[in-house]
Amino acid sequence: MDIRKATLHALADGLAKKEFSSRELCQAYLDRIDAEDGKIGAFLEIDREHMLQAADAADARRAAGRVLSACDGLPVAVKDNIAVKGERCSCASKLLEPVKSPYDATAITGLKARGFIPFGRLNMDEFAMGSSCENSAFRRTVNPLDPARVPGGSSGGSAACVAADFAPAALGSDTGGSIRQPAAFCGVVGVKPTYGRVSRYGLVAFASSLDQIGPLSHDVEDAGMILDAIAGVDRHDSTTLPAAVDSYAAAAVEGAKAGSLAGLRFGLPKEYFTSGMDASVAKIMDESIARVRALGGEIVDVSLPHTKYAVAVYYIIATAEASANLARFDGIRYGARKEGDGLVDTYYKSRGAGFGDEVKRRILLGTYVLSSGYYDAYYLRAQRVRTLIRKDFEEAFTRCDLLLTPVTPSVAFHFNEKNDPLQMYLSDIFTIALNLSGHCGISLPAGTDPESGMPIAAQIMAPALGEARMLRAAAAFMRK
Ligand code: GLN
Repeated sequence: MDIRKATLHALADGLAKKEFSSRELCQAYLDRIDAEDGKIGAFLEIDREHMLQAADAADARRAAGRVLSACDGLPVAVKDNIAVKGERCSCASKLLEPVKSPYDATAITGLKARGFIPFGRLNMDEFAMGSSCENSAFRRTVNPLDPARVPGGSSGGSAACVAADFAPAALGSDTGGSIRQPAAFCGVVGVKPTYGRVSRYGLVAFASSLDQIGPLSHDVEDAGMILDAIAGVDRHDSTTLPAAVDSYAAAAVEGAKAGSLAGLRFGLPKEYFTSGMDASVAKIMDESIARVRALGGEIVDVSLPHTKYAVAVYYIIATAEASANLARFDGIRYGARKEGDGLVDTYYKSRGAGFGDEVKRRILLGTYVLSSGYYDAYYLRAQRVRTLIRKDFEEAFTRCDLLLTPVTPSVAFHFNEKNDPLQMYLSDIFTIALNLSGHCGISLPAGTDPESGMPIAAQIMAPALGEARMLRAAAAFMRK
């Protein structure tokens, strides 16, 4: 069996036709990981025994004619900030290195209920803070398409894993672009669902009002298959939306079959087409616009006037929430303890040794913007601007069905290229506003930079709970 670029739906067919077993499939991925991951660095850890046991159980169900779904026996790799019972969940941080999850995240429960086999701990920026995976406390992940370049972040391990064919798909999390940007850098598909579409229960919180779990995959249908398994209301997360779950994979199949965007209006937010993107990205965006037109879609100009504040607002709100969320990691209840002289000194020593520089920077920033005297000036004001950003999107979606934008201003950058944190933060300009607004978006491979040979992505965004519409359009857009 050839696992190169193999999609979940093709592998599901193979399993159904008994061309191979789930054990053979999982073993093929493990063999490839063993041969290649020393160079790529996508995984922090893999529980091979457990994975193969799950494969055997899936094969036994299939032999008995009792599959849990068409996906029974398909492996999906998992970012290291999503809880899988009995496995480590370190968020690529020394502070959480000793921690093993006592329970499954709801997204994992959803995958298992359909027979998917969640496996492995994928590398990431520590606590999902970063855009390059360079903030992992444990290892470097390289871009499988050019090892001198970063895979993106924070779900860099997830994107590299799919691009390197270590798994047919992976779970990531997106707080300010962490699924879409690495997907763009590695040439795979990545979806940030609407805030509240997928439960955050069991996702280690970075910025709770922005975080969402989502899929990284080879194609749009596969992203839909994962979304079908993980979307929905959850009593463990009161921010999940009680809306009915559409059939996302079916929407993608429909879109690919139709191969038409007729009747859909695509808004081009003018703020996303002016500020500093590379010429190669601008060219691919021109081609993407032409493609939408050729497929019968209508292009309309729209404006998201508060976009220019998005990065600033994000780095106030996200750091404020992070400083509160990360307060619980004190070496007493959770994580690695460094014994000090009394309780307070133990906190200092444990947190001082456990957190990396970027995480400390965010905690300091967040604590500052929440402190008395600055709360109104920064935090409260940022919340007000956030509302304006959301209203911009809502206003735009009265004039169009979807938005079309770039994902990143450049192709994947080189290691150590963005040593200045501000430069790193600014690379998220095209992804961050969508987390602040809460709507959904998908990153799609749309072309290649002729000079570097690196992939360039286009982003389609949709209104709240518009995932089915978005995937239908994305699949039509991607049809070869
Ligand atoms: N790059 C952004 C940050 O560093 C977004 C991270 C994310 O989406 N988790 O915060």
